[in-house]
Amino acid sequence: MGIKGKIAWSFMTDKVSKVLFQASYREMMNLLMAGSTSVEEINRKMKQIGFKVGETLLMDYADRIRDHAGEFHEFANTLGLAYKVNSGQVFTQIRVSDDKQTIKFTDAECPICAGVVISDMPGLQYCNIVSGVFDAVMELRGFKADSFQESCKALGDDVCTWTLRKYPESTQNY
Ligand SMILES: [Zn+2]
Repeated sequence: MGIKGKIAWSFMTDKVSKVLFQASYREMMNLLMAGSTSVEEINRKMKQIGFKVGETLLMDYADRIRDHAGEFHEFANTLGLAYKVNSGQVFTQIRVSDDKQTIKFTDAECPICAGVVISDMPGLQYCNIVSGVFDAVMELRGFKADSFQESCKALGDDVCTWTLRKYPESTQNY
């Protein structure tokens, strides 16, 4: 996809107020916290929400993406572009491991947890909706992989990091 295509694509994306998004996300998280018995359950539920969101996003953009990723490591670019289109900002860093089996996406200015400080829920993956979106894209594009939020600014980390891992070829289980 050429530069012109990328720009045209981003202009075609409808915008929503960041405050509206963050406030809605925060209330969604509060609801999950109130209805869950463990941090792991909250993380899992937020990822499930992300998966549904990812399905919708992929359907919406499928017609507009001309160059689908053919190899796992190419999702570094594909998901980087999708993040830019949907968040209006770019990942601070995207790293592909030497064996091309792992991709780490980092945002030092994560728009999801901006302004949020959580000190009493260690292990909470506040921005795990992104992991769910990644999982949906992987599954619907036929890749066996999964993702998780590795670090979170809301919990005191310097950056938010989402890690995407491709399963070994022999692995049959999700
Ligand atoms: Zn975050």
